[in-house]
Amino acid sequence: MIIYIVISFFLENIVGLLINKSMIIPLFFLLALLLSYQVKNIAYDKYLLYMVLLGFLYDIIYTNIYINSLLFLGIGSLNVLYNKYINNSFIMNFIFTILFLIMYEVLYYFIYIMLGLNNFNLFVLGKSILAILPINIIYYLISKLYLSKYGRWFMPELPEVRTVKNALKKQIVGRTIKNILYRYDGIIRSDKNEFKDILIGKTFTDVDNFGKWLYLKLDDYTILSHLRMEGKYYIKPSTEEYEKHEHIIFNLDDGSDLRYKDVRKFGIMYLVKTKDISSVNEIAKLGIEPDKDLTKEYIYNKIHNSNKTIKELLLDQTIINGFGNIYVDEVLFASHILPTRLGNTITIDECERIKVEGSRIIKKATECLGTTIRSYTSSLGVEGTYQKYLKVHTRANQKCLTCGELVLKTRVGGRGTYFCPKCQK
Ligand SMILES: [Zn+2]
Repeated sequence: MIIYIVISFFLENIVGLLINKSMIIPLFFLLALLLSYQVKNIAYDKYLLYMVLLGFLYDIIYTNIYINSLLFLGIGSLNVLYNKYINNSFIMNFIFTILFLIMYEVLYYFIYIMLGLNNFNLFVLGKSILAILPINIIYYLISKLYLSKYGRWFMPELPEVRTVKNALKKQIVGRTIKNILYRYDGIIRSDKNEFKDILIGKTFTDVDNFGKWLYLKLDDYTILSHLRMEGKYYIKPSTEEYEKHEHIIFNLDDGSDLRYKDVRKFGIMYLVKTKDISSVNEIAKLGIEPDKDLTKEYIYNKIHNSNKTIKELLLDQTIINGFGNIYVDEVLFASHILPTRLGNTITIDECERIKVEGSRIIKKATECLGTTIRSYTSSLGVEGTYQKYLKVHTRANQKCLTCGELVLKTRVGGRGTYFCPKCQK
């Protein structure tokens, strides 16, 4: 990220020399927009942060009035804080951002007059406010377009991984691998040649999972597979044309393929001897699954010395293995605990609630074959239905189903977090 800022700032200065200064403002917004672009999404809070930081640097360099730079930093920081902590909807963030910018422009010219540096020029003021608007509107439209096109990132959690496991079990157990084709081999994290040499000719004997890790077992070897953000398995006839992002192709003996597709390429596969699984570092460090042998004492011991938020602690796979963003929001709502509470404020009784609700929710979601939200489509012909039971997650600005208060969305530990401010303490 720092490299991006340096490069873009350098570019901005070159551009500044080449063109009329008044053009720099829109370019500068566009730059913040580009910087906050993430794969398939634009992080609005990052956009604001870059805007403030770049604006601050810009003012220090181009204007010699440091009070103006400080003003930008002050107003800009207020805006970032507003959007990070008080925000609840995209459109409100958008409106407030424009209001903050207008406020900045007005104060900026006011300071100019006070210092006797410039004549107050309503035309210039109007022009810079107008420069802000189209860029924000473009940003808004681009981000809407991306959201509607790609939907949210789908990150499989324990119920979804169990669903993939069960579907794969039915479809590949008993099938022998005839050939393996790498179209992008970065997914394979163990020796890539050995992966092929050992697996070709082997037969799938079982499919299992531990937390979010899938175990594809073949005789005495196991492929450890983690889907991360968007990894999916497909069963397709070998004759079917390859799609973009189908990275690993297993040709099976019945004329079908097991294909691993991963748009973001974050997923990973390791080949290990089945007897060595528990000594693999990634597996050895994992905690207990939410609906297996979890106790309130176990949770309490893991979190009571921590000053991290309970949301981050429950997402930590070394404590509880299998929760992700959706189910942590739901578990905390059901347990009446605010996601921003720190680990060291959670009582043993609350740990009991987390245990009971965590187990209940994960069991129910597993029965429902997981949650299918927005554009995520299931790959193996099964579609989860737990979205019907979501109480807070994805329900920002809708009435809480328990008390009627509006459900809020915020960010905790960098993750979109939904909660009811009245039901959760
Ligand atoms: Zn409520």
